[in-house]
Amino acid sequence: MSQQPVSNGRGVLYVVATPIGNLDDLSRRAIEVLGSVAHIAAEDTRHTRRLLRHHGIDTPMTPLHEHNETRVLGRIVGWLEAGESVALVSDAGTPLISDPGFPLVRECRRRGLKVSPVPGPSAVVAALSVSGLPADSFCFHGFLPRQRAARRERLERLRRSTSTLVFYESSHRIESTLADLAEIFGGGRRGCVARELTKRHEEILDGTLGELAERVAADPDRRRGEFVVLVAPPEQTGEEGRFEGETDQVLALLLEELPLKQAVSLAARITGENRNRLYRRALEMH
Ligand code: SAM
Repeated sequence: MSQQPVSNGRGVLYVVATPIGNLDDLSRRAIEVLGSVAHIAAEDTRHTRRLLRHHGIDTPMTPLHEHNETRVLGRIVGWLEAGESVALVSDAGTPLISDPGFPLVRECRRRGLKVSPVPGPSAVVAALSVSGLPADSFCFHGFLPRQRAARRERLERLRRSTSTLVFYESSHRIESTLADLAEIFGGGRRGCVARELTKRHEEILDGTLGELAERVAADPDRRRGEFVVLVAPPEQTGEEGRFEGETDQVLALLLEELPLKQAVSLAARITGENRNRLYRRALEMH
């Protein structure tokens, strides 16, 4: 095979991307590496066994998940130091992307061990590539906080981001997250919901956040499975972008002439914008 399985007598840690649904989305090189290393560190060994069986691989596995990763790190580093190569995989997609593995990779790099990627699927890139939203600059935020208040606070901070925003979401929260997005970013902002990518029920919905929230709320089938949610930057939104620009202008003019509270109160009456939101914006501008 083309890999160099050891480096200066020490093993290599391969970080191997695996399919996000379709088992055939495993690269030839990934199959070679998984079949040739001494150990596979897997998030859930039962889950990965299905993939290995599908490709006829019988390399021994050891579990590495969020509850044991700092505990098993020493053993894996020991194997690598002794010249045994290890492949790190997660249940789906690229390890470390909202998945375990960061402490292990950081420790290997700290020790000067070779860490080599075997790139492949990741839901964030797969969704972005088909969303029809700008992909030249994007910001991945993983999962939003579960608690509604914390989630809304995070979203408020992202409202003015000029990059496409990408989030992971579960079936339990997709409906309320879309409702929060429509409320906080404005129902006119464009977005995309990518569901069950590469699987039988793959569906890519695009439209305004208001439309997306409504469509998902109206159909329980649209709330099943795994989701990537994307939000376009304000520049792409036409009406809303101009509205935000005008609101800023009004607020800026009033702030030049009036104390902050009065300026906010008048701006709210002129523009119809939410007073708290204007207040936060005024503090940023002040
Ligand atoms: N490491 C993975 C990656 O590179 O994409 C992500 C792991 S994270 C624990 C799982 C989340 O990724 C899911 O809750 C969902 O938001 C997203 N995801 C994974 N597979 C997906 C798919 N086939 N379609 C849509 N979203 C998916």
